[in-house]
Amino acid sequence: MGRKFIVGGNWKMNGNKKGIDEILAFLAEGPLDPDVEVVIGCPSIYLDYVHSKLSPNCKNVAISAQNCYKVAKGAFTGEISPAMIKDIGAKWVILGHSERRNVFNESDELIAEKIGHSLEEGLHVIACIGELLEEREAGKTTDVVFRQMKAIAAKVKDWDKVVIAYEPVWAIGTGKTASPAQAQEVHAQLRSWLTDNVSKAVSDNMRIMYGGSVTAANCKELAKEKDIDGFLVGGASLKKEFVDIVNANK
Ligand code: PEP
Repeated sequence: MGRKFIVGGNWKMNGNKKGIDEILAFLAEGPLDPDVEVVIGCPSIYLDYVHSKLSPNCKNVAISAQNCYKVAKGAFTGEISPAMIKDIGAKWVILGHSERRNVFNESDELIAEKIGHSLEEGLHVIACIGELLEEREAGKTTDVVFRQMKAIAAKVKDWDKVVIAYEPVWAIGTGKTASPAQAQEVHAQLRSWLTDNVSKAVSDNMRIMYGGSVTAANCKELAKEKDIDGFLVGGASLKKEFVDIVNANK
């Protein structure tokens, strides 16, 4: 069985009810390739709103939080838990996004703990990794992404609900997309890492999304690469062109 293509939209801290209605309308209008799994990452305050408004036409669209904490409940002001995400009917969480790592200083270990707890609670996880520009320029890309993977692997018992998003930080929100060859190279290295450090079966089945300035204009070329199994899309997920990105293989 092939790996099912998956496209995530990361709305980040954008939108309001009116804007969300517009996004949900273009998703409902689609048409979205029914063979693609679509996940929309909403600001936590709107998760329930999106869940209540998502059209029945959007059968292959699931809802994701963009972050959560590493325990079920307690005195953690401002945080949300996987249990709460599940409670409102969402099934996914994005963890380890570069903005969490680099703006909010989340460590590899904290991210891994959040991933471990989210999986124990039954959520699906988009686990994000990626190198900074200076790390790439210093030839350290694999050191960085393998270090991030090692921390994650230490907390994952079952990989079935994990999708990896390789997002070079220099490509996020910059308009500087990695070339298909650059992305493929790292995706293939990640797959080899999984073979060597987890198992051949996990490596073969793992979906590795690429993220970083994906648009309707560049998605088709990227999607042709054999180890690119989908996209995590920021800016373009707020626009109608997201439908074209979902349909990149058509
Ligand atoms: C992201 O937020 O994960 C992302 C890849 O953003 P953008 O598509 O805007 O580069």
